[in-house]
Amino acid sequence: MKVLINKEIIDREDTSVDIEDRGYQFGDGVYEVVRIYEGEVYELDGHVERLFRSAKEIDLTLQYTIEELKENIEKLVAENNVLDGGIYFQVTRGIAPRKHNYDRSVKSHLVAYPLYFTRPEEKQKTGVTAITVEDLRWLRCDIKSLNLLYNVMMKQKANDNEAFEGIFIRDGVVTEGTSTNLFIVKDGVYKTHPVNNMILNGITRQRILELFKENNLNVEEVEFTKAELFEADEVFITSTTSEVMPIYEIDDKKIGNGQVGEKTKEIYDLLIDYIG
Ligand SMILES: *Cc1c(COP(=O)(O)O)cnc(C)c1O
Repeated sequence: MKVLINKEIIDREDTSVDIEDRGYQFGDGVYEVVRIYEGEVYELDGHVERLFRSAKEIDLTLQYTIEELKENIEKLVAENNVLDGGIYFQVTRGIAPRKHNYDRSVKSHLVAYPLYFTRPEEKQKTGVTAITVEDLRWLRCDIKSLNLLYNVMMKQKANDNEAFEGIFIRDGVVTEGTSTNLFIVKDGVYKTHPVNNMILNGITRQRILELFKENNLNVEEVEFTKAELFEADEVFITSTTSEVMPIYEIDDKKIGNGQVGEKTKEIYDLLIDYIG
């Protein structure tokens, strides 16, 4: 496997992690996962721009321009011959003696490498289950930070309960999943949490909102409660790897008639069509 380390593409065998990398010690950095379909990088602009935004929000400067990073990711995809999968890329605040405060003159450290996976078609057809969990994350959920400890714990809790995803509830309001955005459908209207510091604004979420608008489907970016989640006709989650994933059961309670809903299928088909 070929890996991009800062501006060099090298063999994985020749890479190492420095014990004083701030990403390793503090989770001090930001990341992205971009999808590759049939060898083509999908929505690269959106992901790279979001990485730069996340970096800016944590006062981290990349050793890259947006254009340069896009070029190197494309090069990495070509060198690895990835057909179906993605690229994981992260940038940390670099390598320095361990102390909490940082020195802005230390160069940030970028790593990117390929992931090999395929569309989770079986699960998308049957739907999956979820549990609700308390949203105890910090209040900058809009930053795609490497600090995923609470997300990791709640995804594990979901998996330990034979569920696919944990759905965060903050003060009675449904925010998002541990690594996905969430939509409900009620009386033909799609609803999702508005963009603010309480959620990560998914590239998939943004694409789907565009598709709703282009197809004159009713969508509202509004807060909704845990009670509304359980009273919804349909629920689905979205992300780069899950695309549109139907949820037919939450906390052992059926959503709607417990089947994958028509409105979920409609947006699933529109997205798959758009991807091409
Ligand atoms: C990455 C992520 C998403 C989904 O974003 P996509 O860009 O659609 O993959 C949603 N929520 C959280 C918390 C995430 O980390």
